[in-house]
Amino acid sequence: MATFKKKFEISGHGIHSGKPVRMVIKPSSKPGIVFYRVDMNKKFKIPAIYSNVGETKMRNTTIGKMDSEHVQTIEHLMASLMLVGVDSAVVEIDGPETPILDGSAYEFMKKFLEVGVEGNKLKRIIVKKEIIVTSDEAKKNVHWFEKFKFWILNKLAGRDTRGFVKLLPNDGRGLNVSATLVYPEKIIGSQSFSYTFNETKKSRDVFMRDVAHARTFGKISEWDFLKKHGMAHGANEHNVIVLNAKGDGTLNQLYWKDEFVRHKVIDALGDMFTSGGIIVADMISWKGSHALNNLVLRKLFSDPNNYEIVEK
Ligand SMILES: [Zn+2]
Repeated sequence: MATFKKKFEISGHGIHSGKPVRMVIKPSSKPGIVFYRVDMNKKFKIPAIYSNVGETKMRNTTIGKMDSEHVQTIEHLMASLMLVGVDSAVVEIDGPETPILDGSAYEFMKKFLEVGVEGNKLKRIIVKKEIIVTSDEAKKNVHWFEKFKFWILNKLAGRDTRGFVKLLPNDGRGLNVSATLVYPEKIIGSQSFSYTFNETKKSRDVFMRDVAHARTFGKISEWDFLKKHGMAHGANEHNVIVLNAKGDGTLNQLYWKDEFVRHKVIDALGDMFTSGGIIVADMISWKGSHALNNLVLRKLFSDPNNYEIVEK
């Protein structure tokens, strides 16, 4: 178990709500990343754990109950916590969504490294059997209206959303994420990227250099639709890559041609950290999603023969 050396604060605004939000992150002596909504009844404990992940339909990962205490868009924060090795902290937040900052993991990382970490290495969750989940399985529990809404949205964009996420045993090499995106938009097309985190400084430096800066993306033509449905109110050209209507260019500068898929790696790392430790496996994400990432963890933990936990 490891935590931060001192308490600190991060402020910004939510990408979906667009509202200002302030987080106070405190060291903790208990295992787990636990959120408290200080704008609500403070007694509500919202653990950032896979079994508490509610909705993933807003293209983000939400913990808690949507109609009551919850926190949205935890994935970039969670990825950064894993990368600095913090698995124990209290996050007091005064709104329903973490600050989006620069849309990537970079600003979280910078702050976390500045504050400093003390304690032991992360719990290792060693995958012993192949686990696979498909988008057809992920859709089973979604309300018909939500399915319909996203079918329309994907139809408009000409997108085929069938994908899968797979975890494979990998002889203890750490968490090796290989993500692939396939989009009809020319500027994205088909992109793949691999990154391995094994708790070494070297693997963290590679993350800072090649992955941390990657931002999420959205199409200018979808913004009206998203905004009407309570999404993307806080999205702007500083925290989102904005694709033009034709999908063959961007309105703001890309950091890398394949920044899109590099961001998917951040999302995958963040979602995997809702396991409470480092998933030791090769993770293959083919047109993956937050829903698939959550489902693969639920499947993994549904049978104790699938994994082994090693604590230091
Ligand atoms: Zn993301």
